Amino acid sequence: MIPYSRQEIDKKDIRSVEKVLKSRFITQGNQINIFEKKICNKVGSKYSVAVNSATSALHIACLALDLKEKDYLWTVPNTFVASANCGLYCGALIDFVDIDKDTLNISIENLKKKLIEAKKKKKIPKIIVAVDFGGNPYDHKKLFDLSLKYNFKIITDASHSLGSSFKNYKIGRCKWSDITVFSFHPVKPITTAEGGMAVTNDKLLFEKLKILRNHGISRNINKYQKKIRQKWYYEQIDLGYNYRMNELQAALGISQLNKLDSFNLKRNKIAKFYKNKLKNLPIKFQEVDKNSFSSYHLFVVLFPKSIIKKKIYNKIFNFFLKNKIDINLHYLPLHLHPFFRSKGFKEGSYLVSEEYSKRAISLPIYPSLTFQNQNKIVNIINKVFKKYFKNEIIE
Ligand SMILES: *Cc1c(COP(=O)(O)O)cnc(C)c1O
Repeated sequence: MIPYSRQEIDKKDIRSVEKVLKSRFITQGNQINIFEKKICNKVGSKYSVAVNSATSALHIACLALDLKEKDYLWTVPNTFVASANCGLYCGALIDFVDIDKDTLNISIENLKKKLIEAKKKKKIPKIIVAVDFGGNPYDHKKLFDLSLKYNFKIITDASHSLGSSFKNYKIGRCKWSDITVFSFHPVKPITTAEGGMAVTNDKLLFEKLKILRNHGISRNINKYQKKIRQKWYYEQIDLGYNYRMNELQAALGISQLNKLDSFNLKRNKIAKFYKNKLKNLPIKFQEVDKNSFSSYHLFVVLFPKSIIKKKIYNKIFNFFLKNKIDINLHYLPLHLHPFFRSKGFKEGSYLVSEEYSKRAISLPIYPSLTFQNQNKIVNIINKVFKKYFKNEIIE
């Protein structure tokens, strides 16, 4: 089976983890500090806080930005559940902004309309979680301008987009967001098995994030109520969690980070190959701005709209599986999950995301995907179009 994505682990990765395993410290040691510094250098942020998943990073990012009960957090329906759940962990209310049909990212037009309505009702969100879907940066500048006008905070969910850039600004530089979050899950641009990172330029947020990942404990004497300068002494000053990354993960992350650029170039090469080979079919691709660089975490293709009327999505999906190509859907819109429906969200509310999810599949894309397999995938797609979409046009 050709997976839709997979990790790339080499001997150097294994040796770095092994070295930590044989060392004195396997949980809290120097590897984490090094990994955090290297991520800062790579993305251009001032501060970074390594944690055990992007989900944890999103949670403490919301807490650091003071998200509370009755506050609103908005995100897109076309994302992984964690982008919304982080708000619910804080007791906040969530709502969605539909995506743009071409970039597949948050639609700035829809957002503007929704903000105007929200202002009338005095329900401006405290936080918007914006996702660089598939590694393709959303319009960071336009979202930032709106955040100034309407006074909300921005968390960039960059789980897909480590190494991507928007108008020559690396994702994570936080020029246009308060906190940016990365994921190091095995299918993401680099992996630490499980792991995540929150980066920011704001010192206060940085200090909050650090305390929140470690039970709410401070080891900064300036923050103590009692000025006791003893090794045994620390104070819990907030309710935090154990969201720490360990040394094994950090060592793997450091080693992986060395390969990020080459990984992303390989993904871009594969994307180019697909686009070129499929350009004569009535297939729609995700639009990436010419001034942006996408990590191509995902390579999404949209079939002609007739796939919906003909009710052949499952047939096509299974055709790939039968041919040992493990494609995927990113994503079933969040508001259609039973959990979100139980919160009052309904089908028909976010039509672009809904239609997208009935037409889209993610093709396999990962650095070690062989040329032979890329060709095999293209051949299968050609067969699908011959079989199901004769004389169709691009919509
Ligand atoms: C993977 C992913 C997450 C969660 O990442 P974890 O590290 O697995 O917690 C959050 N948001 C998006 C968009 C993702 O793709």
